[in-house]
Amino acid sequence: MTNSAVGVAGMRTYPTDLSSQLSLSAGRPGPEPFRQFVLKVVSRCNLACDYCYVYEMADQSWRERPVVMAADILARVAHRIGEHAEAHRLSAVRIVLHGGEPLLAGARWLDEALTALRAAIPARVDVQFAIQTNAVLLDETTLAVLHRHAVRVGVSLDGPVVAHDRHRRFADGRGSHARVAAALDLLGAPAHRALFSGLLCVVDLANDPLAVYDELLGYSPPTIDFLLPHGTWSAPPPGRRPDDPGTPYADWLIAIFDRWYEEPRRLVDVRLFSEIIQLLLGGASETESVGLTPSTVLVVETDGMLEQVDALKAAYDGAAATGLSVADGPLDLALRDPAILSRQAGVAALAAECRSCEVRDTCGGGFYPHRYRTDTGFDNPSVYCPDLLALVRHIRGRVRADLARVLRRPR
Ligand code: SF4
Repeated sequence: MTNSAVGVAGMRTYPTDLSSQLSLSAGRPGPEPFRQFVLKVVSRCNLACDYCYVYEMADQSWRERPVVMAADILARVAHRIGEHAEAHRLSAVRIVLHGGEPLLAGARWLDEALTALRAAIPARVDVQFAIQTNAVLLDETTLAVLHRHAVRVGVSLDGPVVAHDRHRRFADGRGSHARVAAALDLLGAPAHRALFSGLLCVVDLANDPLAVYDELLGYSPPTIDFLLPHGTWSAPPPGRRPDDPGTPYADWLIAIFDRWYEEPRRLVDVRLFSEIIQLLLGGASETESVGLTPSTVLVVETDGMLEQVDALKAAYDGAAATGLSVADGPLDLALRDPAILSRQAGVAALAAECRSCEVRDTCGGGFYPHRYRTDTGFDNPSVYCPDLLALVRHIRGRVRADLARVLRRPR
């Protein structure tokens, strides 16, 4: 089976013959159905974060899109998700309201949209709603709606005030930390805490990792997601020079890992760490950041266009597009897109260096968008390769040492 890359539209390069590789390599008859739907219900934001992949990177398609998803588009999206769940006999789907900033749609719009989505999906299907927000507009009225539909709330927070406000500012330059902190106090109150799903934090090497960790822990989140800043080989992330063997991001994360791993009582689930441990122990990952689990995420823009994982917008203009809309037919049409197939093809879609790497099944080549290079498309290791290798090796070393200690104990 060849893994040679073919050029698509002069930019997108993927391994050849992905459909047959999918059936042969994963032992299943075809692509995995979509199980998670990220709905971009608002295409604008009330913050102007300087690292945002929607507004600050190569893809500027948001400028052409409606500000809020119209009712007729939403009805069509709801119908397509229901149809997809029925066609594939799915027992559960996850729907994430995203943006831009989804709370800009307003509490009434959210209430109507969530009602319409639930009504269009067969009653036997467990619909898990979530929202990812900057929390600036989170208030009691909105929370009442989110309670009504059992919507879990994830909030973006980058650390203490200086760390957070360095990037996450309003368009006039004011920082947003104070507003987010107040919203988190509200969300963490006993009346609302059940909705709190966790914090999302973008890594900035300028920050002290343990100060960031302590700040996030102060809000008692159930989970923390540390995200590596988006970047590619052609537009490298801050502090990450391509082909430099240094591991600044691994060093930053390892400082937190060691603290987290040594805590006598688990205070929070840091998903990147727990997923790596799960993979090292032979399990599967649940996110696309690490591992080889097939991606089952589909993004729908405010105009009903179907897209791939949003962070691809960091690669080049149009990188996330499939060219399909909810008006075109069942969502299975998107399962023919070579880029979507390549994110389901596991080892077969990896670059040669990744396929022979000692941590291949744990790292999985890293997050797909981070592999992009202008001349070779996505047929590369992650631009974070040295960091990922160092992080996985470190965690593997700690877990192995503990397992050996346990196994040596007299019984
Ligand atoms: S550590 Fe590097 S070479 Fe190994 S799988 Fe990850 S990205 Fe690929």
